[in-house]
Amino acid sequence: MSGIYLHIPFCKQACSYCDFYFVTRQEIRKDFVNRICEEIDRYAATRYSEEPVKTIYLGGGTPSLLEVGEIERIFIHIEKVFRLEPEEITMEINPDDVTVDYLKGLRSLGIDRASMGIQSFDADRLIFMNRAHTPDEARFSLEVLSRAGFRIFTTDLIYGNPGQETEELEADIDQLLAFDPPHISAYALTIEPRTRLGKQVELGRLNPADDDLVSDHIDLLNEKLSANGIYRYEVSNYSKPGFEAVHNGSYWRHENYLGFGPSSHSFWWDDEKGASRWKSENNINLYLSEPFEELYMEKENLPMDELGEERLFLGLRTSAGVSLDELHNRYDYQLSARQREWISQKKDEGLLQFDKQIIALTGDGVKIADHLIVELLTRK
Ligand code: SF4
Repeated sequence: MSGIYLHIPFCKQACSYCDFYFVTRQEIRKDFVNRICEEIDRYAATRYSEEPVKTIYLGGGTPSLLEVGEIERIFIHIEKVFRLEPEEITMEINPDDVTVDYLKGLRSLGIDRASMGIQSFDADRLIFMNRAHTPDEARFSLEVLSRAGFRIFTTDLIYGNPGQETEELEADIDQLLAFDPPHISAYALTIEPRTRLGKQVELGRLNPADDDLVSDHIDLLNEKLSANGIYRYEVSNYSKPGFEAVHNGSYWRHENYLGFGPSSHSFWWDDEKGASRWKSENNINLYLSEPFEELYMEKENLPMDELGEERLFLGLRTSAGVSLDELHNRYDYQLSARQREWISQKKDEGLLQFDKQIIALTGDGVKIADHLIVELLTRK
């Protein structure tokens, strides 16, 4: 079973923290839809189209800038080329694009999981983030969404903002919980150099939130969400049991997927010796004009030892952790003596659990997940 990711690279404006690939020129939308349909058609009768497709994910950018008819066209091409056995079809939606009719249209196409980019309900915070929506639009979108008949909906929330008091985050969480969301993706703000916030930090006009504040925010999220039956299952993802994201889970488990659109990634197993990963150029002009063969840059062949290391890294970000038996049987990957020694030390420090051949981070370990994972990998 495989997954399909569609990168829809249009946005109304640049959010101040955003490091994704997007353009604000909407006038080329029609050309883009034509082109992504052509890109999908190229996979007809290839080894990639033999496997049934279990998930489709429309991300961006802002997929909700596409009209229902445009998404329908893309889906018609997918159905023509691939064998669909969908367990989950997700679309990212921005609150300012929501109308009752639009959501009905998406449901009629079989989209059953809506991901709403809320980020915050605080008016000043939304201005700081340069989001295109207002707190009222955020509330309206969730009201309509919770009645629109999606099998599942999820919302994004950003915490760990500079100067964000814990009370502000608490108010955000309370407002979100009022809509009884089955799934929440909560991200600590990371300030990337190429973004507007990155420039402000570089000029000394903004200080990122300190680690203690971020740690308090994580504690608050865990406490409030788990009190409402919503549990963390990955560093940035929380859900009620049974509502975990299928598509993203397949990235963490190294299942095959194909990406379409500029800056999308694909991953495919070649044989028992390894897999390939490739990325499409993040340039809409080239995407629209160049032959497809020239758009796939950064093609990597991933041998088993690299894949094993990556599985260890991805598995440690999940609450299920990673099984040493799986690492051995699937990737022929063995931990070194130094790694085993480090694991037992971190277990004593309360940062890791190691039981029945499964390693997982504890609540304290998750807060410094990236740091711990680098330490473990460099001990190979
Ligand atoms: S809407 Fe999403 S992709 Fe577009 S600029 Fe904002 S964060 Fe980035």
